[in-house]
Amino acid sequence: MKTIGLIGGMSWESSLEYYRIINETVRDTVGGFHSARCLMYSVDFADIEVLQHEGRWDEAAAVLIDAAQRLERGGAEFIVLCTNTMHKLADSMSAGMRIPLLHIADATAEQIVARGYHTIGLLGTRFTMEEDFYKGRLANRYGLRVLIPSSEERALIHRVIYEELILGQIKPASRDGYLKVIQNLIAQGAEGVILGCTEIGLLVHDGDSAVPLFDTTHIHALAAVSYAQSLEASPIPN
Ligand code: GLU
Repeated sequence: MKTIGLIGGMSWESSLEYYRIINETVRDTVGGFHSARCLMYSVDFADIEVLQHEGRWDEAAAVLIDAAQRLERGGAEFIVLCTNTMHKLADSMSAGMRIPLLHIADATAEQIVARGYHTIGLLGTRFTMEEDFYKGRLANRYGLRVLIPSSEERALIHRVIYEELILGQIKPASRDGYLKVIQNLIAQGAEGVILGCTEIGLLVHDGDSAVPLFDTTHIHALAAVSYAQSLEASPIPN
């Protein structure tokens, strides 16, 4: 199994989920005492949040490229960036590293396409919902029709992510608010909804709505294990 390089801390609440899901999956698929060979570089999210909201994306890219290079030097054989939003910088990152980046939108779209869905709702930060880096990839590479919430609903989704979920606060009223937004997306024709922020799975779960909810944390973590296992075995590091 190849060594997985995780860039975490965006936020650490969801990085914890990646670490848990990856190791549980290796345990369940390989058995015995097996666990994942992985490294995590966890950033200070306070720095990242300022760069995001001030639109200083070049500086954010430099932080992520530095993190990827540190993981590469530490023996990581591919990178898993544990956030949807920061995939806005995926192309700049790939240009600055030698090992592959396992893109969260690709892993998610593959699941959606495999289940035969075409029209899909998208929840995430306002960067993810409103900009083209994520929706565009789903549409152009996978032929998906992507529906996003209304502007008022997007404000609610974004606020709950930054003011609650990233701080580890899980509130029933916010869960109800999210489920209403999901219902509205279903009414517009969504056959499934992407939980396109790695903390949303802490608040709502597949089974909470009338259509499947695609939890990007879960999907991305499973994709990391299968990618690690699909490659040739690497020598045990000294
Ligand atoms: N974890 C979130 C995401 O998947 C939001 C935090 C961030 O902005 O990176 O988009």
